[in-house]
Amino acid sequence: MRFADIGLSDELLRALSEAGYDEPTPIQAAAIPQVQMMRDIIAIAQTGTGKTASFVLPMIDVLANGRARARMPRSLILEPTRELAAQVAENFEKYGKYHKLSMALLIGGVQMGDQVKALEKGVDVLIATPGRLMDLFERGKILLTGCEMLVIDEADRMLDMGFIPDIEHICTKLPATRQTLLFSATMPPPIKKLADKFLSNPKYIEVARPATANVNIEQFLVNVSPMKKRDVLRDLLRTEDVSNAIIFCNRKTTVRELNTSLQRHGMRSGEIHGDIDQASRQKQLEAFKNGDINLLVASDVAARGLDVKGVSHVFNFDAPWHPDDYVHRIGRTGRAGAKGKAFTFVTKADEEAIENIEKLIGTKIDRLGKVEAPSGEPEERAPAKRGRKPAEPKAKSAPAEAVAPAEPKPAREKAAAKPAREKAAPKAEAEPAQKPSAAPAGDDGWNGPMPGFLGVGFGTS
Ligand code: AMP
Repeated sequence: MRFADIGLSDELLRALSEAGYDEPTPIQAAAIPQVQMMRDIIAIAQTGTGKTASFVLPMIDVLANGRARARMPRSLILEPTRELAAQVAENFEKYGKYHKLSMALLIGGVQMGDQVKALEKGVDVLIATPGRLMDLFERGKILLTGCEMLVIDEADRMLDMGFIPDIEHICTKLPATRQTLLFSATMPPPIKKLADKFLSNPKYIEVARPATANVNIEQFLVNVSPMKKRDVLRDLLRTEDVSNAIIFCNRKTTVRELNTSLQRHGMRSGEIHGDIDQASRQKQLEAFKNGDINLLVASDVAARGLDVKGVSHVFNFDAPWHPDDYVHRIGRTGRAGAKGKAFTFVTKADEEAIENIEKLIGTKIDRLGKVEAPSGEPEERAPAKRGRKPAEPKAKSAPAEAVAPAEPKPAREKAAAKPAREKAAPKAEAEPAQKPSAAPAGDDGWNGPMPGFLGVGFGTS
């Protein structure tokens, strides 16, 4: 099947052909016709499947006729993180270049004034994280009664981040006759409940997980003792043909320490995680994209959904606690038909997590190295249940290698007694699973390229 066969406008076909895409991916082939028929949909699809274009493309055509009114966006896309919100905005820019639609991006960490100005001009497409949207809504800067279409993207991640009450609240502010598209990698009961409540006779679409379907990613488990992780990583970085790699850690502290260690060993590495300020995150990501650095040490939320072309390797320095995170992490490589390799370090304490991963992806992953007996070194413990991760390790359990000098406690951890939602610091991009449980929802900084198109029309013809 080709894009030309599914009834998209000539303008879209032109933009798609310039982007180099002729054939829809399975999620696009399944979802686009349903959206064109104005059906609500529940789509079980992960990042990496082409899911963004599966709603962006038909939305552009549906919205092509009609005019935006001040403060009344015509459509709303909810994203759990700023990075994903920005990637969706980039998709609108790319595919909507021959349309005259206007767009605004409402994300934390960016001046609210510009966003309000954009809204006042009227926008066809509003892309928002729930925290910032609720803030502006409560300040009376935005009316959702003109929203004909609602997209709830990455619904299961919204659940993990505690956004479901906000989303329910937002849904009640939209007209009942709207079209709603819900995307989620999994369908846990609270998401099913949300769908039952706010979608009307939805078409259910499910596509294969990219990790199980993606034969382009070679996967390995590497047995390692916790003390040896850095040595083994450096060996692999030297012996593998690594052009560039994302290295995932479970904790922000580990991200910081590992990056410092790699740099000390002369490697060109950078780091992204929730406690790094917006400008630095943006710089690091740009440096990785343009090749100034070739290693990016990252936490899950900061790197989720990042679409960087040609990542040759993914290393899970820490085995992820949740099997879904494994799928998301390794999906950063092997993209767009390229080959990729994913190495996951396994300590004795990770065996249960690995079992769950193998169950989810339906295959045994090849193992390298012997299982080492713990030689008195501390073991990391897996969390008792989903959504709760163990506290940061105490200093005495840190690896023997020199670690980064002690850093001042991030502001948001200090402010643990503040209420969960603060007006000026929405919780949109918090990394809840990596924070102490008593910490308030925080604002962890934007790490995508600063959008030049913020609130500006993006059509050229
Ligand atoms: P997503 O799942 O939306 O994050 O998309 C994953 C990647 O697939 C992005 O780099 C898209 O640009 C790319 N992509 C989207 N649609 C297509 C298509 N029809 N053919 C090939 N690649 C695509």
